[in-house]
Amino acid sequence: MGYSNEFRIKPGSKVNLDKMDAGYHGGYDDEDKAAQELQKNARRLSELQALMYAENKHALLIVLQAMDAGGKDGTIHHVMEAMNPQGCSVVGFKVPTPEELAHDYLWRIHQHTPRKGQITVFNRSHYEDVLVVRVHNLVPEEVWSKRYNDINNFERLLANNGTTIVKFFLHIDKDEQLQRFRDRLDEKDKQWKISDADYKERDYWDDYQQAYTDVLSKCSFNYAPWYVIPANRKWFRNLAVSEILVETMENMDMKYPQPTVDLAEIKRLYHAEVAEEAGFPVSSVHDKPEDKEKKGKKKGKKKKKKK
Ligand code: ADP
Repeated sequence: MGYSNEFRIKPGSKVNLDKMDAGYHGGYDDEDKAAQELQKNARRLSELQALMYAENKHALLIVLQAMDAGGKDGTIHHVMEAMNPQGCSVVGFKVPTPEELAHDYLWRIHQHTPRKGQITVFNRSHYEDVLVVRVHNLVPEEVWSKRYNDINNFERLLANNGTTIVKFFLHIDKDEQLQRFRDRLDEKDKQWKISDADYKERDYWDDYQQAYTDVLSKCSFNYAPWYVIPANRKWFRNLAVSEILVETMENMDMKYPQPTVDLAEIKRLYHAEVAEEAGFPVSSVHDKPEDKEKKGKKKGKKKKKKK
């Protein structure tokens, strides 16, 4: 598969977001073809998630970061809808509460990392502590500049303990952001998202791009890679993310656990025997022992009558 290789930031590489085309759409000219591929990936993701849940050995952490209107919510909606909610959760990280600020910045994050068998999507993440925090000088540089190293060690810890980590930066350009803000004005179901602060934040666009450049350059490793997804076209963004997730999960080399019971014995006790006696396969597993006895007696009686 191509996008995983194409969009992954190689460890130690110097990233230049200006040179990455946010409007790129692979070999796809039309959305319909991409939608078919997305469907295929969604089915595969569903199978892989069921396997992961059953195996209960790996955890998967998906980190989503983007500029405002970059499409985090849409990606979660379109890519994750294939997942069984029982094995999947989404956690959004907002401005920290006083309680959270009274702890180290990773405290609130670690509480939400996925347990074995589970997939967790971070809608924003610990990276905000070297993005918005850096851009707005919420802590001095001597504090935030040490965080890249903390974050790498933290993710290393998770990876060493069975968590697969995959991180997506949904890359849109500044004009596309303005267009999306503009579109919200006419869409009744999106108007609630309009915020004056989002417009004002555009003044810091270049600072954010620089902060993202450092994140991508300093924090992409084989155990926790960053992918820069061209995200101006929503359908291509969804396709690329789903393809990378499929590949990531296939590489986890998962297997269904061996049954913990003797299947032949279960069949003999509860299925083959019943099927043989009654002439068709009837499960008696849910029968209470006394019911089974009664049934046995009835059958015995019937047989006697026939004689
Ligand atoms: P979203 O934009 O993710 O849909 P909101 O509109 O509620 O959700 O924005 C969440 C806000 O919380 C963003 O402005 C983000 O920068 C801010 N935020 C998240 N984490 C932190 C943090 N650690 N420190 C300061 N602000 C943060």
